[in-house]
Formats: sequence, C-alpha cells, structure tokens
Amino acid sequence: MKYCGDCLAKEGELHEIGCDMERCIKCGNQKIQCSCGYEIEREPYFDTCFCCERCGEKMPKLFGMDTNKWEQICGVIYSYNCVLCLDCVKFIAKKRVIDIGEVKI
Ligand SMILES: [Zn+2]
Ligand SMILES: [Zn+2]
Ligand SMILES: [Zn+2]
Repeated sequence: MKYCGDCLAKEGELHEIGCDMERCIKCGNQKIQCSCGYEIEREPYFDTCFCCERCGEKMPKLFGMDTNKWEQICGVIYSYNCVLCLDCVKFIAKKRVIDIGEVKI
C-alpha cells in the first residue's frame, strides 16, 4: 500500500485538509494555495499519476539533484517537488545556459 508522502493518506483516500500534495480538481493548483475551498469535489491520493510536468512523459526515471542546483535551473516555474524528466531539465538548463553538473540516476 502506498501512502501520501505528506499526510499519509492511503491510495484512493482523500488527503488530510492542508496537505500540500493535494491538487485542486477545479483549478489545478495546490489545494492549500487555491481559493476553491474543500466543499467541492476533491482529488484523492493516487501514487500512479506521476509524469513529467513539462512533456507529460509517464513515470520518468528518477534522478538526484540538490535543491540549489534545481532552483538555479528550474527557478520558480517548477518547484523542487515537481516531477520532471531528465531530458526536460537538460533542455531548460541548456536554454538558460546553466551547467547541469553531476546527475545521479
Ligand atoms: Zn496528502
Ligand atoms: Zn482550486
Ligand atoms: Zn519531460
């Protein structure tokens, strides 16, 4: 059984109110940041919806990158808990002319 990394909701169950992993069904933002409220339909926790935020690749390979490097490359667009595939990170780094450095896969 998989659990939400933040509020420990089981798969298929609703997140605890205030969990920052929950996405809003209506506006797509983080639930704690949007103003739609908790009375509307909510998205339960599923471990399987896991794909690159930029290109939509399903289940991209995970890689290790430290927070500072990530912020330097992805800035405010993709927060550190976003999922991006390595190709997309490389693409962004190239456009910003940032050396991606060492990446542990
Ligand atoms: Zn949660
Ligand atoms: Zn919302
Ligand atoms: Zn991608």
